[in-house]
Amino acid sequence: MDALSLPIIAAPKAARLDTAAAAALGLAQRGPARAQGMLDSFGRAHSYLRISVTERCNLRCTYCMPAEGVPLRARDHLLTFEEIERLAALFVRLGVRKIRLTGGEPLVRRDIDALVARIGALKAHGLKRLAMTSNALLLEEHLEALRTAGVDALNLSLDTLRPERFRAITLRDGCEETVRAIRSAATAGFARVKVNAVAMKGVNDDELIDLARAFARELPIEVRYIEYMPFEGNTWGEGQGMLAAAEIRALLERELDLGPLGLDETAQLYQVADRGGKRWPGRIGIIAAMTEPFCGTCNRTRLTADGHFRWCLLDEGELDLRGPMRAGASDDDLVALIEQGLQMKRAGHAPAAELIALQKAAAPGHARSMIRIGG
Ligand code: SAM
Ligand code: SF4
Repeated sequence: MDALSLPIIAAPKAARLDTAAAAALGLAQRGPARAQGMLDSFGRAHSYLRISVTERCNLRCTYCMPAEGVPLRARDHLLTFEEIERLAALFVRLGVRKIRLTGGEPLVRRDIDALVARIGALKAHGLKRLAMTSNALLLEEHLEALRTAGVDALNLSLDTLRPERFRAITLRDGCEETVRAIRSAATAGFARVKVNAVAMKGVNDDELIDLARAFARELPIEVRYIEYMPFEGNTWGEGQGMLAAAEIRALLERELDLGPLGLDETAQLYQVADRGGKRWPGRIGIIAAMTEPFCGTCNRTRLTADGHFRWCLLDEGELDLRGPMRAGASDDDLVALIEQGLQMKRAGHAPAAELIALQKAAAPGHARSMIRIGG
């Protein structure tokens, strides 16, 4: 049966692989059926899927990928549009209500507008929100198509307003184009536009306030500062140090009044104003992934561009869905794999030092840099 024709069920009966299929896929038989949708063994419900649509990118951000780049792999390693659509539909059937398309840079994937429209069509089958994370370099030419396809929210990444610094961080030009595209997006009719800036000690810590003013003072944009996370091959701890959430807050409060609005998924949100001034239309968010982890309420899962299911950004565990899918796995077989993966999710991610040790100890080519996971 086609995934799209399956009924949307909030509490699916867990499918079981028959013994032969499980053995062929190298899997142990699943445990007993669970009563609810995408629950892990700690009872967290997973309603959010991030799909990476490519490992390629038109920038080379030093925090995201190794300086020598990532090996370009054969095209057939990538999931096709049909495969992405089939898996996305299955996840929606399992209770996913929000999908974010990411990468690599999603807008460099050929015919991306057509893929977005296909995923957007899942709104007729239970999907509630469709979002994209992009570096915005190619955004202006896609804005209309993304809106029409049903994209509600855009997270656009920019760490600096200074062209020479942009080049030092991304190893490419494009600072002014990115600023322009972000401003265009803010008035293009999306429900939410955010700017993601990785806050790095000695790199852009002197620009946090400028970034906030550039986007949130006049426009309804949420500027979010992300704690720098260690990934395979990046510069974490090598001079480009992590700026902790508390330090980010203190730096911002030197000139701005922040009014706490509480936790929004992963970000501590603030309304903001210049000292003693009028409240801005935009807001500020701080994502303390390392120093104040939000693992306890994590509702996220990931699908990599090469078709691996990942249940945690900061865990090397993953399960291949592409191989079984191409070997003829049924929808129920795939559901069983997804559910099995989710049971491996840990209560929380390891601290930074341990993460780095685990990445170093991984078999060659196994640990993934951010660009190959999909941020
Ligand atoms: N190319 C798109 C972009 O840059 O927005 C989407 C993919 S990128 C991997 C997604 C997000 O991850 C970006 O906002 C980027 O800044 C963030 N990111 C990448 N490496 C990171 C790291 N080491 N620590 C924290 N955030 C990181
Ligand atoms: Fe590309 Fe985004 Fe990674 Fe920068 S953060 S290299 S733009 S995928």
